[in-house]
Amino acid sequence: MFLRMQQVVKTLGRTQILYYTKGDSPTLLIHSGTHGDEYGVIDSVRLAVEKYEAQLPDFIYVPIVSPSAVAKRSRLNWGGLDLNRSFFGDNADSEVQANQEIVKGKSLDLLVTFHEDSGPGTKFYLYDMGLGLEDKDSWKKFRDEVGAMGVGLLSGTDDPDDPYLNYTFTEGYHYWSVPVKGYEGGSFDAWATRNKVVKKALIPEIPGHLSQDKKNKVVDLFFQKILLT
Ligand SMILES: [Zn+2]
Repeated sequence: MFLRMQQVVKTLGRTQILYYTKGDSPTLLIHSGTHGDEYGVIDSVRLAVEKYEAQLPDFIYVPIVSPSAVAKRSRLNWGGLDLNRSFFGDNADSEVQANQEIVKGKSLDLLVTFHEDSGPGTKFYLYDMGLGLEDKDSWKKFRDEVGAMGVGLLSGTDDPDDPYLNYTFTEGYHYWSVPVKGYEGGSFDAWATRNKVVKKALIPEIPGHLSQDKKNKVVDLFFQKILLT
């Protein structure tokens, strides 16, 4: 476990963000723990990174993007911010700034930021920002195996009550070309692609009502089928 990864601590004011790097030329950025009420997926991602570390390209892995929100198990951090609506260049929040500084000057190929949708009966869905997975075998295999696990795939809209969302999904999939037009909602993915620290992004939304074991299996499958091919 953790054979090659180096542990780094980013300190900024009272914020300390622990992250891991593999290799000298990272191309992949992995995030979890942006929203503190989506803590199950943090363990799922850690297990998958440990398991597939050797096979993954060089990476930066930030297990807990918002330590204060995760400590409270709350969507909002200590400053009352939804961190994924707060990534603007001039935001003074130290968690926002620390995450911006971790990738400063980088040009990573892909960000994968894991989230959970906590609504009752929610299904799996993926925002694809620029990668174009819809017709790829990797996505089809993942989608079919998730379905075979008994986890539904969202066909319909994500969250019509959120002014920055209300996107339509087909069998768990929605595509955005990069840069995303009209998407100024302050998500890390939008900030990172707009500022060219990452080229493309994938945002899997794991159903929050699944058991921890099933969350682990969905995330493991995502690594196997999507990130290792
Ligand atoms: Zn989230």
